[in-house]
Amino acid sequence: MILQKIIKSISDVIYPARCVGCSDTLHHEKEKYFCGPCHEQIKYLNKSMCPVCGIAFLNSPAESHLCGKCLEKSPYFTVARAVAAYENVILETIHRFKYGRDLSVGSILASFMADFQFPDFDYRNYSLIVPVPLHVKKMRERGFNQSVILAQALNKKWRLPLNYFLLKRSKFTLTQTGLDKKEREKNIKGAFEVTSAKEIKDKNIILIDDVYTTGATLNECAKTLRKAGAKDVAVLTLARVL
Ligand SMILES: [Zn+2]
Ligand SMILES: [Zn+2]
Repeated sequence: MILQKIIKSISDVIYPARCVGCSDTLHHEKEKYFCGPCHEQIKYLNKSMCPVCGIAFLNSPAESHLCGKCLEKSPYFTVARAVAAYENVILETIHRFKYGRDLSVGSILASFMADFQFPDFDYRNYSLIVPVPLHVKKMRERGFNQSVILAQALNKKWRLPLNYFLLKRSKFTLTQTGLDKKEREKNIKGAFEVTSAKEIKDKNIILIDDVYTTGATLNECAKTLRKAGAKDVAVLTLARVL
């Protein structure tokens, strides 16, 4: 124990831990991923929210209640939760990970997500982790799937099986960027397929993605999994567009 502490303090001097947001040296024990000023920019989504889709009611002090969209039509997932709003330092670091192809940033963000205690969410109710897949063409272009990297950290921390072959993106779709919710739903319809219905039958699945935008892609994945026999699908993302 003492030896471990000594080794840790020596390595802290040689390789001081850096903030993933601004690269400043981290000083306090509680500053594990972000420094104080970067941390202050993060809008955590753990207060009043829709119990189903998790949309935050930032300006409403009221208790959590169903949002208009979920009241109108229930999604195929039963719960969706995100760590933080997709803005400021969270948006910048996700961009560096995804578009700047910085896998070291990705692995820090993945641990940050795995350490987060999602409100009203119990990992013990689930038995399988499935990341949102990329089309093979996109995968070749980027070289990695960001959702798989996030899912691997959750798999390690929560000791839940992870399978990234079960859900496949069979249809190449145009980017969802710039499309509204209805257009996104239409664009993504029928884009996924389950490769082995036997493996997901009656399972409670956690679906992982980096960003929840309108929920169209995640809902289409959840629909595909549910129609193939999954009992329940929950969605966890690192960030959420508000
Ligand atoms: Zn910082
Ligand atoms: Zn909702």
